[in-house]
Formats: sequence, structure tokens, C-alpha cells
Amino acid sequence: MRLQESNYWLTTAEFPVTDPSRTLPEVCDVAVIGAGFTGLSAARTLAKRGAKVAVLESETIGWGASSRNGGMVLTGMKLGVSKLISMYGRELTRRMYAASLATIDCVEQIVREEGIECDFSRCGHLEVACKQKHFDDYTRQAEVIEVEFNHKLRVVPRHELNAEIGSAIYYGGMVDEVSAGCNPARYAAGLARAAMKAGAEIFEHARVQTIQRDSRQGELGWKIQTSRGALWAHEVFVGTSGYTGPATQSLQKKIIPIGSFIITTEVLPAKLAQELSPRNRMIYDSKNYLYYYRLTPDGRMLFGGRAAFFPESDQTIRRSAELLRRGMIQVYPQLADARIDYVWGGTLDFAFDMMPHAGQLDGMYYALGYAGHGVAMATYQGQKIAELMAGDKPDNPFIGIPFPGAPLGLYNGKPWFLPLAGAWYKILDWVS
Ligand SMILES: Cc1cc2nc3c(=O)[nH]c(=O)nc-3n(C[C@H](O)[C@H](O)[C@H](O)COP(=O)(O)OP(=O)(O)OC[C@H]3O[C@@H](n4cnc5c(N)ncnc54)[C@H](O)[C@@H]3O)c2cc1C
Repeated sequence: MRLQESNYWLTTAEFPVTDPSRTLPEVCDVAVIGAGFTGLSAARTLAKRGAKVAVLESETIGWGASSRNGGMVLTGMKLGVSKLISMYGRELTRRMYAASLATIDCVEQIVREEGIECDFSRCGHLEVACKQKHFDDYTRQAEVIEVEFNHKLRVVPRHELNAEIGSAIYYGGMVDEVSAGCNPARYAAGLARAAMKAGAEIFEHARVQTIQRDSRQGELGWKIQTSRGALWAHEVFVGTSGYTGPATQSLQKKIIPIGSFIITTEVLPAKLAQELSPRNRMIYDSKNYLYYYRLTPDGRMLFGGRAAFFPESDQTIRRSAELLRRGMIQVYPQLADARIDYVWGGTLDFAFDMMPHAGQLDGMYYALGYAGHGVAMATYQGQKIAELMAGDKPDNPFIGIPFPGAPLGLYNGKPWFLPLAGAWYKILDWVS
């Protein structure tokens, strides 16, 4: 098979069909922008609570990062716990860490309740150290996490690492058994079906162009203009992640879209697959410019990384395929002759502080900023913000934390500084 510039997961999933000729409702309770994990999870929860929900998606269901990712359902956040404690103090960090564990339960519960066949499995994740000092830091982190958050991670010294990974290049690892893996496209499709079953309506190819404050019959709400017509909503929920655009400019200015790319090999012989990842973990390394990888349920090696820093385009995807193949062979020389069948890219959403953020901005609800840890957190935030909108008071430690914009305001949503940031992270990987 020739290398395809397309997303392998999409060949395994069937998305629900929506009616392209259906007109938008004149009025709804909540307009959800974006049909990824965040928006679909929010739509499901709100519809179950009796709200009339219209999900507006500029492309198709799951088109964004939600169908393009590695399918790693991960505990923790992008930033390490010591950094988190220095930023937020012990108590808030404790709540954040507990929430990160709850995100996995949240996904598992939805998958069970809705009967979503997405190969969800609690296979655990393995972080591998590219340098001795990264490994030393694992020992410190595991101690803090056990003492402060009562959560046990297993530090794996170098001489025991071959029970976890068939690669000799790492200095040791750290395992969290609570993390899981899934097929993200099937999960997104299942979440969409669940939202529709609960009564939410999904409108594909409905790009939100403008959102304006408006009152209707004495009630304050929002007039939303889309490429499929206009509607009026009492509330707006924004779940547009790395694809956030000018319709929600205040959010766009706070989010840096960063490209991440993935290749998959042909289906590997079972014995080789077992040698590469004996416990079928979700794996990522300790660099800033990191690699993440796993076996797919049908036994391909899926290997991803930030091969180019700019969001995906034909050019960055093609370049990434070769860069990632070289990276994969450094990790696994056993794959030197393995054919690469698929390559694709997607856009991550980084806030300037690399933290998830949720709450209200300019009167609209939102959740985003998952920084590559979004499969579980996006599902969870969608649900939590929906509960808040429905009048509950859910504990959500990410609401109300400072949400910084660019230093000196030098950013309008177009990340001109990414080549510099990319070079900076490469330097950091040499020296740290
Ligand atoms: C290559 C890659 C690998 C990743 N791997 C992992 C991983 O293994 N584990 C993990 O935890 N996370 C991973 N992530 C991150 C994770 O996929 C995301 O954090 C998560 O999917 C975000 O979901 P979302 O619903 O917020 O956004 P998305 O899924 O990106 O959905 C946003 C949607 O909003 C729509 N939209 C944007 N603007 C408008 C508009 N104006 N009108 C209407 N619709 C609009 C877009 O079309 C898009 O479909 C990865 C991301 C990428 C790109």
C-alpha cells in the first residue's frame, strides 16, 4: 500500500449521518460551537438535562483534533506537579490532580453507559526518560504525587525497562496504571450518537461567523450567524480548541495553535508488536519536542510528534512523515523496514501557561487549552461546564485560575513566533 496522507482512525470509524438540508432552529437554549469531545460531551450532558441544544460544526463531526489524536486517555496535565504546586499552591494542585484522575473515570463511564465500541482499555501509560536527569526527576515526581495526591506511580529503572518497551535508548520510565487507550475517531462518533440520542441536534458545515449579544422577547441571549443561516440562543458554549477563530476573538488571542503529526506503520507481525510494547502501554518521552506512540488495536505502530511546529498543511504533513519515520527508527530500529501506511496532522491548543482553562469569557462559556492532554480532559470539561450551565455547582478547579494572554498583548491569534518557539524548545531539549 502507498503512503496515504490521511487519518488511519477514520478508516475504522463510522460517523452518524446528519441531514444537510435541515434548517437551523430559530431559537435554542444552548448553541454549542464545535463537534469534538468538548462540544459533544457538553451537548450530551445538556440535552440529558432537558436543554434544547444545537451543535454547530464548521466541518464534520469529530473533524478537529478529536478524531486525529493518539487515543491516549491520560492522567496528569502537561505541566509537572512541582511546577503546578509552584503556580497554584498545594491545595488547588491537589484538586487539579484529583480532577485529572476523574477525567479517565468520566470517559470510561460514558463509554460504558452509551455502549461506545472504541477499544477503551485501562492499559496504563509509560513515560520514558531521554536523559539520566529526566529519570531522576521521575523518582522525585512519583514521591510528590504519592505524598500529596495519594496516587501511586511506578518508577521503572533502566535495567527493568525491557518488560515495558522494546527499545534500548531510554534511561528508565514511569508507569501510571490508571491511564487508558482508545480509538479516538470511534469515541468521537459514539459521543456524537449519544448526544443525538439525548436530543441534541448537530449541524455540520455550519461555520459560526459572528456572535452578537441580542435580546428577544425581553430575554438576553445571543444572535449567531452561521454559514447555514442564523439562530438565537440563550447561552453559547465554545469548544473549538486549536481551531478557535475570529468568531470568538478574545479566546483566539489566548490560544496558540500548534501542529502535531502522526504516522502509522503497516500491521506488524504479532511477535514484533509484542516485543515493541509488551504491555501495550500508551507511551511518551520526556522531551519538550516529544514523541508519543502506541500500538493500534489492529497491531500497527502509531508514532506521533511535533515534527513541525506550524498547524497541519499538505507541506507540513509530507515533511513530518519522513521526520517521524526517522524518529521512530531511532526508538525502534526493529521497524527500519516497516512500511508507513498513513500520515496525518492536527492542531493542538496551547494556552500561554500550558494549562486547561474553562469558565466564561465575554459572557460565553468555554473550555479549552488542553495542550495535548485533551482526550479525557475535554470530555470532562464539556460535562462539567454543561453541569454548571444547568445550574449545578460542580467542583472544577480549572475555573477562575488566571488565563494569561500573550506578553505585551503581542498576539492576534496568528502565531508568528512559532518557529522561534520551536527552536527554543529544541535548545531546551539539548540543555535540560
Ligand atoms: C495529532 C494530535 C495528537 C493528539 N494526541 C492526544 C493524545 O493521545 N491524548 C490526548 O489526551 N490528547 C491528544 N491530543 C489532543 C486532543 O485531541 C484534543 O485536546 C481534543 O481532541 C480537543 O477536543 P475539542 O473538542 O476541544 O477540540 P477539536 O476536536 O479540535 O474540535 C473543535 C471543533 O471546532 C470546530 N470549529 C472551530 N471553529 C468553528 C466555528 N467558527 N464554527 C463551528 N465550528 C468550529 C472545528 O471544526 C473542530 O471540529 C492530540 C491532538 C492532536 C492534534
